[in-house]
Amino acid sequence: MVNKFPYDRPRIGQIELSKFLYTNLREDVVAIVSAPTGFGKTISILYASRALVDEGRFDKVFYVVRTRNELDPVIRDGRKVGMRFSILYSIARMCPLARGKNISSDGFWAVCSLLRIKGLCEYYRRTRSLDIPQIFSSISSSRDHTDFADRLSKEIGVCPYFTSLELLDYVDLYVATYPYIFKESIKSWIFSDRDFSQTLLVIDEAHNILNIGSLMGESISIDVLDRAIRELEELSLDTDTLDFLKNLTSIKVDDVGKGYTFIGRDRVGLDKGVADRLMEIAIEASLEMFREHNDIDNVEDLDLSIYRVAKFVKSAVNNHFEIFVSRERPKGLTIHTLPIDFDVVREIIEQFPSAILMSGTSPDKSFIEKGVGIKKHIEVVDVEEYGARNYLRENAVAIMFTGATTSYRERTERMFKTYSKLIETLYRVHRGGVIMVIYPSYEVMNSIVSLISSDIEMVIESLKPLSQIIDEIARKEKVVVNTVAGGRLAEGIELTVNGESLIKTVVVVGVPYPQPDDYIEFIKRDLQKKGYIYTEYYRDLAIMRVLQAVGRAIRSEKDYALIVLADRRYRQKKLLEKIKLNIKAVTDSINTIEKIVSSLNQ
Ligand code: SF4
Repeated sequence: MVNKFPYDRPRIGQIELSKFLYTNLREDVVAIVSAPTGFGKTISILYASRALVDEGRFDKVFYVVRTRNELDPVIRDGRKVGMRFSILYSIARMCPLARGKNISSDGFWAVCSLLRIKGLCEYYRRTRSLDIPQIFSSISSSRDHTDFADRLSKEIGVCPYFTSLELLDYVDLYVATYPYIFKESIKSWIFSDRDFSQTLLVIDEAHNILNIGSLMGESISIDVLDRAIRELEELSLDTDTLDFLKNLTSIKVDDVGKGYTFIGRDRVGLDKGVADRLMEIAIEASLEMFREHNDIDNVEDLDLSIYRVAKFVKSAVNNHFEIFVSRERPKGLTIHTLPIDFDVVREIIEQFPSAILMSGTSPDKSFIEKGVGIKKHIEVVDVEEYGARNYLRENAVAIMFTGATTSYRERTERMFKTYSKLIETLYRVHRGGVIMVIYPSYEVMNSIVSLISSDIEMVIESLKPLSQIIDEIARKEKVVVNTVAGGRLAEGIELTVNGESLIKTVVVVGVPYPQPDDYIEFIKRDLQKKGYIYTEYYRDLAIMRVLQAVGRAIRSEKDYALIVLADRRYRQKKLLEKIKLNIKAVTDSINTIEKIVSSLNQ
């Protein structure tokens, strides 16, 4: 690597990781990188990538991140190593015409298609004759993803979304959010004709591969389906596809069990013909609506449910997917199309000659090899072997509480009462900030929360927008935040002030194994067929959820936290070996925990 590392004082292990990747990444290699939060893996990966692109080993890097906020550190570090970059996120957020409008991305996609076809979008018209050097000179100093889109639309007057798609052929680094490679309804439209045969794929937070259902699945509520039926009827576009939609909405709540219940494409009469016809009708309906409401200021009127349903259904005709239904809180049903095997992940990764899968809790090599079925050569690197610091282990004190378990056989009122007492006790000795309590399921959460004393300040995970929940939490001096493992609050929020986490205690109630349901049976069959030990997947998924939740409390070296692993099953050697936390005490007594926390406070 001829260029200098862009920071004067690299952290321990950063240069070593770059060298490892530079040396080992060639055609047909997948590198699994484990690096804890705060290590600075993005810069190490981009430093190596820049050299690999310069040498022509790859034409560019395609870097995917979970959320749009995670685009920003990548473009910052990409700029530091001198890579020409572009970014892609939701069309409804990038488009200057949709900004501030309450419209779904799917709904807006239909509006955008019509504006383009009818030649009514000036931004798009100008995108057809781009001045590439001018574009790069404008976007290269973008502060963040919003500024990136603003520069394109306000400074140059072009469509940020379609300009970014054009830039794919000119960049060294392309950064996109997960849906662009993991959501069937998006990836098959956007990148299906692009050539990635020379491109290096980087998957950030690659532990999400284990959770394939939430990574690649798509959902739609019965309410949206009902609205789609009404739209078709109002627009007199009543056809045989209505039968298919009515089949979907006829599912009875009483027929739906816990978790995901299998429905299947055959039962509702879904095939490719129906999906294609539905899309044609959705486009017809959009055109019809557009004739009636030809006003871009009122795009909300054009947010047709039928279009959302058509896109959803299109993803369900893929043979690696099936249809399931679940009951949602507080009531009502949601239809899901979920991947039923890991071959879909293999197909995505194998579209690229090489890939880096990185995370603080990376999946095991054996899982990637056998469970996902990757045939490429696999390299594994853990930066702690270079001496990198792991603040999760150094700054978190863990206590194992063995006085309870959420194991199915032992779920009793008495057990729930024990957990509620533990949470109340921790709240009373807690000095301030957030106590985050992670439950294995909504059912367990509701049972325990209902027993907690009403004088405890609490926030409970709900369907409210995340920003609203975060505001609610931040306003309280001392609060218990109740959430479910793998849920939005457990993995998706940053509760920090000046870079310091507000979460001072994490209580993991139970071991968050996936709950048994029809969907997990499909995954189990897929793994068993491939000769991968299913129980290892089950355990790895639970450990990943624990570490992700615990990781919310330790965002940097400044953070310190208390972790309570509240289930006697944590004594199992295989769980402990992988969780690798600094366990200070193992006790079945809540009084002992109270004393330990009081002494830690002092
Ligand atoms: S083409 Fe026009 S309507 Fe579509 S995203 Fe671009 S600016 Fe928005």
